Amino acid sequence: MTHRIIIMGAPGAGKGTQAERIATHLGIHTLSTGDLFRKHISAGTELGELARTYIDNGDLVPDAVTLRMVREAADARGVVDGGFILDGFPRTVAQAEALEEMLKPLEITSVIELWVDPDEVVTRLLARAAIEGRSDDTAEVIRHRIDVYREKTRPLHEYYKERGLLREVNAVGDIAEITDRVLAELEG
Ligand code: AMP
Repeated sequence: MTHRIIIMGAPGAGKGTQAERIATHLGIHTLSTGDLFRKHISAGTELGELARTYIDNGDLVPDAVTLRMVREAADARGVVDGGFILDGFPRTVAQAEALEEMLKPLEITSVIELWVDPDEVVTRLLARAAIEGRSDDTAEVIRHRIDVYREKTRPLHEYYKERGLLREVNAVGDIAEITDRVLAELEG
């Protein structure tokens, strides 16, 4: 079976970490919009310039800009054909609809939602800030990113539940254990 997976969850739920581990295990591509934006910013591209202020403020980059970047990256890397895991995309219902159009006639095969306690998330993100020095990991921006998640991204929970694709995974615990839980959902 070809896996076409979305991994979602609040900021700090561990999407990036788990996406990489799952992709390695299944031998599929990952596409992380957060990583792509950060690459554009460090390369000083026009798209990076457009995205920078939004990211630093913890806001979502406008859908049109995000979709342009996803299309370019997916084409350039032949992401769609061999199966993939999307990390941090879609983050709005409009993006989810655009993704559906982009994939036709293929479809998403599962959506993994990583579940963590909101207080746990803030602690994790502050710890990451100390290690990685991400410009959007200050306490104030973290709180805003969580609000943005609730308002804009959380509606995708219902969106994918209605389509029978949603799999909720408890994302508190050991990293390897969480990977096993995700794999069990994907294989079950
Ligand atoms: P992440 O690394 O996934 O936490 O993403 C970091 C930041 O990049 C987010 O806070 C947003 O500002 C931006 N971003 C990433 N993915 C998207 C997306 N799908 N739509 C809009 N903005 C995004």
